[in-house]
Amino acid sequence: MEIKQGEPLKNHTSIRIGGPAKFFCAPKNIAELNEALAFEGKKIIIGRGTNLLFADEGYDGLVIKIDECCTSLQIEGETVVVGAGVSLNKLVDTLAEKNLGGLEFLAGIPGSVGGAVVMNAGAWGSEIGTFVKWVKVVSYEGEEKVLRQADLHYSYRSSAIAGVVVEAKLKVKQGADLKLIKEYRSKRKAKHPLDLPNCGSVFKNPKPLIAAKLIEEACCKGLRVGDAKVSEKHANFIVNLGQATSKDVLNLVQLIKSRVKKVDLVPEVKVVLE
Ligand SMILES: Cc1cc2nc3c(=O)[nH]c(=O)nc-3n(C[C@H](O)[C@H](O)[C@H](O)COP(=O)(O)OP(=O)(O)OC[C@H]3O[C@@H](n4cnc5c(N)ncnc54)[C@H](O)[C@@H]3O)c2cc1C
Repeated sequence: MEIKQGEPLKNHTSIRIGGPAKFFCAPKNIAELNEALAFEGKKIIIGRGTNLLFADEGYDGLVIKIDECCTSLQIEGETVVVGAGVSLNKLVDTLAEKNLGGLEFLAGIPGSVGGAVVMNAGAWGSEIGTFVKWVKVVSYEGEEKVLRQADLHYSYRSSAIAGVVVEAKLKVKQGADLKLIKEYRSKRKAKHPLDLPNCGSVFKNPKPLIAAKLIEEACCKGLRVGDAKVSEKHANFIVNLGQATSKDVLNLVQLIKSRVKKVDLVPEVKVVLE
């Protein structure tokens, strides 16, 4: 397996920020994944990098990208067993082609199944964790385990999953709602600043309050540090105007937090600083 040195992480994150990875690989199969996991030293797993902010200094270890090694998708009655590297959009569309639904709420979320299962991705009042029957993980020691839903301790944008997700079994149901899929995608286009690099919602919603509303009320829309800017379209998005650095984003995050006095906003985006 090829291990690259100095691969720019900005090429693997949706916000287009991140310095060089000391080492970088994208295993093509489980044997190569195990080879990568046997690598001595610090490692991090990434999927599509849509919820990640890497430092400008890069990552001083091995970055393992999960895509090509986990692309299976098998429908078994009213369940689907799907590889961690499959994109959520492909999952939703493949199910829809077979007239299977239940996961329509994932339409338009740009992450991978692996990232979604770990983060408990959700939208429009639903979360993927509710649909998980089991998750197959490979531990950092190379041991394969199947974790049942009860072991995963899902909560808002969080799970107890440790190790690398390679596959998950999800509940689906007969009847895809194509209209809903289309509606969700067009609502995202209308509401989110998809024309500029971003990493999705920066802060978790401090339920029952909504982060975007609090940020807007604190007059943060349009605030800018360097090339990082609070989107005018959706206040909980920070966009990269071109040359934004991780420091710009983190300084902007601090500025927003200091202006929103009602609650202590907690980042949803995973920040990897070293
Ligand atoms: C425009 C936009 C809209 C978004 N909308 C939503 C939304 O509505 N709802 C929502 O929940 N999220 C949303 N997101 C965030 C993001 O898409 C999801 O959290 C997604 O599930 C992350 O998947 P990923 O593959 O990009 O993960 P990454 O960003 O690559 O990683 C996220 C975390 O998961 C870990 N991880 C990734 N893959 C694996 C794996 N196979 N095994 C173990 N750990 C892994 C990483 O180490 C990291 O901690 C949005 C993002 C963008 C850019």
